[in-house]
Amino acid sequence: MDDFKEVDDKELKKQNTSGQGSEERGDYEDVCFICRRPESKAGKMFKLPNNICVCNDCMHKTMETVSQFDYQGMLNNPNFQNDLDQFSKQNGFPNISFVNLADLQGDGGIPNKQKLKRKKKKAGTQPVLDIHNIPAPHKIKASLDEYVVGQEHAKKVISVAVYNHYKRVATNTMDEIEIEKSNMLMIGPTGSGKTYLVKTLARLLDVPLAIADATSLTEAGYIGDDIESVVSKLLAAAENDVEKAERGIVFIDEIDKIAKKKNTNTRDVSGESVQQGMLKLLEGAEVEVPVGANSKNAMVPLATVNTRNILFICGGAFPDLEDIIKERLTKTTSIGFNSELKDKYDKDKNILSKVTVEDIRKFGMIPEFIGRLPIIYTLEGLNKEMLVKVLKEPKNAILKQYQKLLELDEVKLEFADDALDAIAEKALKRDTGARALRSIIEEFMLDIMYEIPKDDNIGRVTITREYIEGTGGPVIDIRSNQISEPMENLKELPLQEMEEAE
Ligand code: ADP
Repeated sequence: MDDFKEVDDKELKKQNTSGQGSEERGDYEDVCFICRRPESKAGKMFKLPNNICVCNDCMHKTMETVSQFDYQGMLNNPNFQNDLDQFSKQNGFPNISFVNLADLQGDGGIPNKQKLKRKKKKAGTQPVLDIHNIPAPHKIKASLDEYVVGQEHAKKVISVAVYNHYKRVATNTMDEIEIEKSNMLMIGPTGSGKTYLVKTLARLLDVPLAIADATSLTEAGYIGDDIESVVSKLLAAAENDVEKAERGIVFIDEIDKIAKKKNTNTRDVSGESVQQGMLKLLEGAEVEVPVGANSKNAMVPLATVNTRNILFICGGAFPDLEDIIKERLTKTTSIGFNSELKDKYDKDKNILSKVTVEDIRKFGMIPEFIGRLPIIYTLEGLNKEMLVKVLKEPKNAILKQYQKLLELDEVKLEFADDALDAIAEKALKRDTGARALRSIIEEFMLDIMYEIPKDDNIGRVTITREYIEGTGGPVIDIRSNQISEPMENLKELPLQEMEEAE
């Protein structure tokens, strides 16, 4: 153990000033040879010969593993000694080395590999919403409004829940009246902004976010990710900072896919068992997760993360839930004088918002699981007006992104109102909510982005409905004399050609 000495600050400083320029060395930090974590994450390093550094965790793990191995007993065994001597004589080397020294030597190759450039701290960036001094719910909602179109109810619920959650975390209220955790269940069709809402929230709050897919989760011990891997992802998102991870958000998408399977004879390792396994995480438990790796094994250090203050948000489209709600509603109204027609709810677009815990239980979620997600709300499917707004209104709207791109070429990009309507109509047909918008826009913007930079004279491009529908071209304005003329080569879209061929 004499060779191993812990490097203290003084020694580090000495090293930094000797040899290379101190400023240059100061930009780099040691990295653990085993777990690859830098010194800023893993703590002080043990320095071994040949400029190898090992962190405290890994050193202890190694020592533990080595001490479990009975060298003394083995070496004192005369049979083993004889074998060893014979082997050494035959092979012509007196000692057996456990480490290939050739790997460790080399002219400064390892020291470079052992250093990692320090991340520069972002200077003075303040989160929009500070979780240590959480603003009132209406302010949280106002920030969300800048990015998320519609979904008024969902934004309101989420703002209040987040406000309560972080107030509870900041004040650490754990006296007689323990405030319950504000875990949420979000129900909404695909492309209605579930993931987007959570992502936006995490960015505004500047907290780490882990997005996991419930379909890949299985009970521990089976093929697939085990449930604790979601916490491991969060730790990675928090750059292995346990304290930061403990204030983070975990979003579990496709939660409806882990509903209890009906009529199965086999063990349900990816459905009900996953729900069972998640119970303790949702409520708050200490979990041991591997640091810097996906799976637990002997050489990976473990960190203990407490999930008590982690906000869990589950989301899913819950197909067929509408039928369950309809069935319940018609059952209660089909008897007696007040009975109503059976198809009364068939045309109701907001049927999903009438969901109750009982409906979700019927869908296949176990009561203990639903009980740990006390805040349940729904998102509406986006209609044409909302899709148009998604295109142009959010702070980072798709159209604004393209306008910015063309602005770099000093070209103004404009969209006629009826062109936006046409895009929204096309997207509605695809039935994937706002997700369809991006692919539609990519399709027709490809030719614009290809043709426009060819000609320096172009000053403005206006996208028209005809262009979206493939019956005409965009209107091009020339920089100097501003004469409007349709651009010839853009008229011939591949899309249009295809339609003509039909
Ligand atoms: P899902 O509900 O299936 O999780 P997403 O949140 O992934 O859908 O939405 C896909 C994309 O659609 C997002 O990246 C976002 O750009 C856009 N989007 C969806 N809903 C909205 C909305 N309400 N406001 C603004 N953009 C939205």
